[in-house]
Amino acid sequence: MAKRDYYEVLGVSKTASEDEIKKAYRKIAIKYHPDRNPGDKEAEEKFKEAAEAYDVLHDPQKRQQYDQFGFNGPMGGGGFGGFGGASMNMDDIFSMFGDIFGGHGFGGFGGGGRRGTQQMRGGDLRLKVRLTLEEINKGVTKKFKVRKDIECSHCHGSGAEGNSGKDTCPTCHGSGVITHTTQSIFGMMQTQGVCPTCHGAGEVIRNKCHECNGTGVVKGEEVVEINIPAGVAEGMVINVPGKGNAGPNNGISGDIQVFVEEEDHDTFVRDGNDLIFNLLLDFPTAALGGDVEIPTIEGTKLKVKIDSGTQPGKTLRLRGKGLPAVQGYGNGRGDLVVNISVYVPKTLSREEKQALESFKKSDNFKGDKQTRDSIFQRFKNYFS
Ligand SMILES: [Zn+2]
Ligand SMILES: [Zn+2]
Repeated sequence: MAKRDYYEVLGVSKTASEDEIKKAYRKIAIKYHPDRNPGDKEAEEKFKEAAEAYDVLHDPQKRQQYDQFGFNGPMGGGGFGGFGGASMNMDDIFSMFGDIFGGHGFGGFGGGGRRGTQQMRGGDLRLKVRLTLEEINKGVTKKFKVRKDIECSHCHGSGAEGNSGKDTCPTCHGSGVITHTTQSIFGMMQTQGVCPTCHGAGEVIRNKCHECNGTGVVKGEEVVEINIPAGVAEGMVINVPGKGNAGPNNGISGDIQVFVEEEDHDTFVRDGNDLIFNLLLDFPTAALGGDVEIPTIEGTKLKVKIDSGTQPGKTLRLRGKGLPAVQGYGNGRGDLVVNISVYVPKTLSREEKQALESFKKSDNFKGDKQTRDSIFQRFKNYFS
């Protein structure tokens, strides 16, 4: 397959800023991430291709060389800094760009360095958080009391009693791997696996800690503070690296994945980052025009002018008064969309009745062609 231009791979222009490049890469990496596309070769290739493009374009020096010389840069062999397309392995990508998935790490991917290590990794934990639209609007810090594996205080996570030290693993003799030899119809077959005694470490603890039985972890509780960025939505997953179960024997801690649930709101309906407010307008204001107050998610009120002759079904768009976009996933804020209905009184006093009876004769109250057409058009758009 011919190599595609790096800018084309990331779908950015030649003048794209570093930030644009990062965003573009992140989007592609999340889409084609192997955790999301298990066993999909094409996705894996796309993922690698994007990683290679990102490696070059996010580094000003490499980018300049690429701009000047193309793939056949002065580094020779068409290879940019050891990037060889097919020779690139997934673990390299994770360790190189782990940070891009960390921090606000969306989509539940852990940080880098979690693969290809002899250290044991603690399990991930899953939490659910229910958020109001007000909390989503501002972003919020939530505290959770989490039951999880924590470091054993007696041995400080080493799993060893006192300073008893370690012995070479008797099962694998220090290599961390064991080889099985089996007889098959093709002859002797050899398969390798991680040593079950030392889990690949090559060493075993001489005297196991009596508190944790040599694992270095015990059951415990921890209060974890989790920052939820503004703009999240139902179904999103926030990955919090390193806050899950402690890794056995001073290994790597797992992550916490926080699943976002959104509470219904009394006043607003959410549509992406827009908020919809239904305004029930009184008939005289619809006819005469006037000012009304519209509530916002901030808890304030906005004065909005209603034109005379406003029809039910009209919408007003208050720019930038909706919800913020999640950091790194778009810019600015959504809008507050005001959907206008007009209230028709259900009961009338005798005077009101008389007044309305007199209006009945007026042609002005019968509706005009333009309004009829516009309602018809709106219906047509709605159903098509
Ligand atoms: Zn211990
Ligand atoms: Zn072993």
